Amino acid sequence: MSNEIWIKANELKDYVTALRRQIHQHPELGGQEVRTAELICRELQSYGVEIVPVNVPTGVVGLLHGKKPGRGQVTALRADIDALPILEKTGLPYASEHEGKMHACGHDGHTAMLLGAAKLLSTMTEQFSGIVKFIFQPAEETLSGAKDMVKAGVLENPQVDSIVGLHSWPYLPVGVLGTWKGPYYASGDSFQVKIIGGSGHGAYPHKSKDCLLAAAQIVTALQSIVSRQLNAIDNTVLSVCTFHGGTAFNIIPEQVEFSGTVRCHNSEIRNSMPQKMEKIIGGMAEAFGCRYEFNYNFAVPVVANDPETVDRLAAAAEQTAGTGFAVELPGPVMGSEDFGMYSEKIPASAILRLGIADEKNSEIPLHNERFNFNDDAIPYGVSILSQYVLDKNSQ
Ligand SMILES: [Zn+2]
Ligand SMILES: [Zn+2]
Repeated sequence: MSNEIWIKANELKDYVTALRRQIHQHPELGGQEVRTAELICRELQSYGVEIVPVNVPTGVVGLLHGKKPGRGQVTALRADIDALPILEKTGLPYASEHEGKMHACGHDGHTAMLLGAAKLLSTMTEQFSGIVKFIFQPAEETLSGAKDMVKAGVLENPQVDSIVGLHSWPYLPVGVLGTWKGPYYASGDSFQVKIIGGSGHGAYPHKSKDCLLAAAQIVTALQSIVSRQLNAIDNTVLSVCTFHGGTAFNIIPEQVEFSGTVRCHNSEIRNSMPQKMEKIIGGMAEAFGCRYEFNYNFAVPVVANDPETVDRLAAAAEQTAGTGFAVELPGPVMGSEDFGMYSEKIPASAILRLGIADEKNSEIPLHNERFNFNDDAIPYGVSILSQYVLDKNSQ
């Protein structure tokens, strides 16, 4: 006999697909998800989910109370709801109506699947105890939404025991859950550097303090932190991604600015990076007779998936979709997810990949102008989230 959740999730597929396409048609950038948040509230209310006020303008939090007597755990399910500044080129009938904005990371699918899980679970409240907390979070792409939501107290009142999420993944067959235990997404931080010298004529460098030469050397030397100061086993990336200075071919500029990003899987290394960088920047700036300004911004921590939570989600996938629908991913990535703001606070947490690849859309990357979430993944995502809640809270 087929699993009850799986049957119900498939019955909801058309409904959730319609929601997903509506959201796709009206993408909103991080912090501007007004229409999307309204749609979410309207839907949740129609399922009897209680909306809790949260002091983040476009964030939505809903509570669903289980009726089964039991331990009363609070299980949070999280979806990100924001779109990207991309001009859509899918040619779909429900393509973005807002030029230059697009759901190209599958957040339309994440939002719709979480609404689907809310609707499904709202029909099964007799079968679980405790509370399900639905967290619809804005501004994931700018890595600021989760931080705002945590600051606004979404993990408290009631205190969350476990939090999980799914992210669509074009490199796995549709419906397959991609799992990883331990550090998966890297921390994602940014830095800005200003090297200040003394401007002068390009023909008489000895009369100036050449900050451009100093900055160029510093960019090169910063690369030696990862290659010479860290153990090669500890995945770390330091990338300088902007470099600006100068106004004319014969003027040595007054100052040069550059910026970049640091990604780590190890929190100790992450915390040591600003000091390591400043030592090089300061020492070299001084050697070239220049001054410097250095700003390091800790944005999102590493996402380390709790092994037990990963096992539970994998079990939920296999229980609903069937054996073979949970596979281990090839390894962690250097990309970042602001889900780390939740996992830092809630040990029983995991964010896993949900495959969306089929013959039509195979391997169109996330953030590509032709990317489209695959609606065939919907019953799988809805099932995994719902079954996870039920398994955890039905004894
Ligand atoms: Zn993205
Ligand atoms: Zn994303």
